[in-house]
Amino acid sequence: MISKQHIINRFISYVTIDTESDPESNTTPSTEKQWDLANKLVEDLKDIGLEDISIDEHAYIMATLPSNIDQEVPTIGFISHFDTSPDFTGANVNPQIIENYDGKDITLNASENIILSPDYFEDLKQYKGQTLITTDGTTLLGADDKAGITEIITAMEYLVQHPEIKHGKIRIGFTPDEEIGRGAHKFDVSKFGADWAYTMDGSQIGELEYENFNAAGAVVTIKGKIVHPGYAKGKMINSMYIAQDFINSLPRMETPEHTSGREGFFHLHTIKGNVEETQLQYIIRDHDKEHFEARKKVMKNLANEINAQHAKKVVHIEIKDQYFNMREKVEPVMHIVDIAEEAMKSLDITPIIKPIRGGTDGSQLSFMGLPCPNIFAGGHNFHGRYEYVPAESMIKAVEVIVKIAELTAKK
Ligand SMILES: [Zn+2]
Repeated sequence: MISKQHIINRFISYVTIDTESDPESNTTPSTEKQWDLANKLVEDLKDIGLEDISIDEHAYIMATLPSNIDQEVPTIGFISHFDTSPDFTGANVNPQIIENYDGKDITLNASENIILSPDYFEDLKQYKGQTLITTDGTTLLGADDKAGITEIITAMEYLVQHPEIKHGKIRIGFTPDEEIGRGAHKFDVSKFGADWAYTMDGSQIGELEYENFNAAGAVVTIKGKIVHPGYAKGKMINSMYIAQDFINSLPRMETPEHTSGREGFFHLHTIKGNVEETQLQYIIRDHDKEHFEARKKVMKNLANEINAQHAKKVVHIEIKDQYFNMREKVEPVMHIVDIAEEAMKSLDITPIIKPIRGGTDGSQLSFMGLPCPNIFAGGHNFHGRYEYVPAESMIKAVEVIVKIAELTAKK
């Protein structure tokens, strides 16, 4: 139904354009080069015949596939992001096509001996016989999330070419800067005008997600007192030792490296310090809202305790919420997950429904009034040199989009 070569060509035309985002920048998009792909996407949307195509001053792109039926049905949306992660370079991506994958080691780069091996990346085994697109070992691939962009455009093109498939109005949205947590914040939900949407931004085939972490960041600043070490007795306060007490008082096993599934954590990601002042930066994560609030309390109480011990305010703590679990916004409209699940099952895809250990643009959009679960885009090993995507998974994702459009019009 969908030509493999066609989808591969489109994907390659997107990943070979560098769109790395930059967390240090204050502009939107955060990097000028994201316009290079954004402008191309607008042309591609025109070429396939979509309507109401717009790109705003921040490079947010929207377009419409009009309804081809008489009755009123919900307007649905599909969203993905065109930036790539600043964790690893996305310049000069040189995709390798592995046809009829034999299930063995793939040499990404012979001169640097970089191997993509199923012994380490076990998911590879399920793609034996398929067509894999990999990197040359020196860059990321950008399947996150140019696979999602490719799939949405290809699905819209397919629907334009197959008017016998009946569907309601479909809106599509492409955003910059998702990888630096700013994909949703300038997204105009009312202009988008959909009843609900899906981000095409998950990983392996079958993934369907409507739960993510509640998230906060904590900055703990500890004030000490520097005195000449030779005359310090009873006078010096070494902020680094107090920081050590703070760190050791939090549960050692409730950290990213000791948790999975729905288990939350405290993650100490940065320490900067000297005698006079030490700063600890944490992120706090939990799927459960009550546990999440409790974690924030634990940190505040700990600061108070230490201050009481020192009989003065040595520990200052500032906690800021970052995003929330979309589950509470999606559960009241659970049919939007059910439709996606039904679409996958009708295409012989086993849905993999699990809580995301992170956030998505969809979680922020859900709290902005656009309920937005996340669907697989097909890639693996995001944000690094081992990233790859099977062409067959991208084709399946296209079919899921088409099927969701079809099922929504029938409900
Ligand atoms: Zn992504």
